[in-house]
Amino acid sequence: MSFANDQARLDLRAGSTAVKPALVSAISALDSNYDLTITSVAHGGHVKNSAHYDGRAADVGAVNGTAIGPNTQTWDFVRDAIASGKIQKLGTFAAIANDASMQEWAAEHGVELFVDTGSGPHVHLQVAP
Ligand SMILES: [Zn+2]
Repeated sequence: MSFANDQARLDLRAGSTAVKPALVSAISALDSNYDLTITSVAHGGHVKNSAHYDGRAADVGAVNGTAIGPNTQTWDFVRDAIASGKIQKLGTFAAIANDASMQEWAAEHGVELFVDTGSGPHVHLQVAP
């Protein structure tokens, strides 16, 4: 795991009270299969009342060193994150979020998949309250 900024690293460091344990668990599980670059956790600019401020969401900007975008790494990562059983909502750019087969995959796993128009292509991972 790597961090795009110090604040993201601080939010997820051992013993941090800025995040919910379920988020740490979800990120750790996914990071065992992918090298994630975390861009934002409990701080930064997000929509009002965002789950980020509740310590339940993290944004991923790159997977295995490849920026989130229309590439195999991103598609595989989103598929696996949905199937992990640890994510309640997942947001990403429209080409994936609106893809019919990915929407079906998300519905099968009880995950809400939505278009996240926030700052640049990223994957928003959110756990249940
Ligand atoms: Zn987010």
